[in-house]
Amino acid sequence: MTVTLHLESSNSDAHSRRTLADLSLSVAKCRRIVVVTGAGISCSCGIPDFRSSDGLYALIKQQYPDAVLKGRDLFEASLFRDPKSTAIFYTFISQLKHSIDSAVPSPTHKFLKTLDAKKKLLRSYTQNIDGFEEQAGLLGSSSRDVRGDGKGKSKNRARDVRNVQLHGDIHRVRCMTCAAEFSCTQEHLNYFSEGMSPACSECLTRSNARVARSARPIKIGSLRPAIVLYGETHPLGDEIGNIQTIDMSRKPDMLIIMGTSLKVHGLKKLVKDFARSVHASSPSDNPAMPSQRKRWAGKVIFVNKTPPGSEWSNLIDYHVVGETDAWTTKVISDWKRMRPADWEVQQTLVASDGDVTMAGPFKVVKEVSTATTKGKCKGFGKLAAAENKPPSPSDMVLSTPDIKRVHTPPSPSKRRQAAEHYNDREASPSKKRTYSSKRIPLAESERKLLFAESTNLHD
Ligand SMILES: [Zn+2]
Repeated sequence: MTVTLHLESSNSDAHSRRTLADLSLSVAKCRRIVVVTGAGISCSCGIPDFRSSDGLYALIKQQYPDAVLKGRDLFEASLFRDPKSTAIFYTFISQLKHSIDSAVPSPTHKFLKTLDAKKKLLRSYTQNIDGFEEQAGLLGSSSRDVRGDGKGKSKNRARDVRNVQLHGDIHRVRCMTCAAEFSCTQEHLNYFSEGMSPACSECLTRSNARVARSARPIKIGSLRPAIVLYGETHPLGDEIGNIQTIDMSRKPDMLIIMGTSLKVHGLKKLVKDFARSVHASSPSDNPAMPSQRKRWAGKVIFVNKTPPGSEWSNLIDYHVVGETDAWTTKVISDWKRMRPADWEVQQTLVASDGDVTMAGPFKVVKEVSTATTKGKCKGFGKLAAAENKPPSPSDMVLSTPDIKRVHTPPSPSKRRQAAEHYNDREASPSKKRTYSSKRIPLAESERKLLFAESTNLHD
């Protein structure tokens, strides 16, 4: 049976308060956590609800007054059968990407990064296409950094993929003919906003090479957003399946499901498989495991405003009713209170003359580790330092996990690189996201949920 816990009333209810604290401690103790997320975790990022009357969909209606598409139709694979609906789709995606580019990751995305930095995240799986996990520092399955040559043919290195993008990535485009993938650039967006698709440079190069040797030119493919529509198979489906198999074999000790109402068929199966795998590691289900030992392991936690359907009662142990940002923030704060040793490493900025100062952040970094982090938390405390700092740009030099390998202070130039390792906008040019002056400002009331309903309608 699922235990329901109300985050907001937990202060007045001793049982809820104790159970929630117990869940936080479980998160702090588990070592192989699988997280599955949906649109609810991007609610607070500032992405508009395109279905609301003044949202993106209304803007599309202005450009295409006789369009009869509903929100859901914009994500059906069948839209490519009709040139008009294809044009509307491209325009819509360009507007959506502008909105996403002006938004920032939520505390929930940062929580995922914290789990990863503390070596607790086995894998994150998301239905979202907004790429905020990568902005928070988790490499995605569609990232160029794990895909090698960018032609869509090289294999993902499973170990490097921290976030599996089940529905693709709005920040990438894919050739409909040769399947080459590229980062979505401003030039691509200019085409999309006019309802057109840019030509594939990969096809073009190959065709020109053929013409140069007097061979017949080949068809030049067109580029489309690399997101997965309803009725389409995921181009990386096999690789995602392999990653899931690897994760199941690692025996995950906790499953956290956040911001999804679990109604899409493919996602249901993935979540059920992981829930059963997690329960198999639970002490009560496993007589070989002495009770009391690893009492924290084997929990399936569902954080969402609406309850799960009845089919989940034997699979979900806890339904935390509330915002994912509120719950993840509480977990981190409980964790810091209950297991301070996990967080007790300070890094002090020291100027070259020995004075402690915040004025020269790129001078020297001196690590101060406390005795409690040695031994038991060996090699772990240094990571913790990364999580003690808010992610402001000047703090990035401290918050990068790369510092964990650095015992002697690196040169300022090297540390600048390290700081930018997870900073998407200042990283490699291929990943640089473009900010357009054509972005349409949206009222606060429009900055709501995206995709949740269209996803939920699916079955
Ligand atoms: Zn191509």
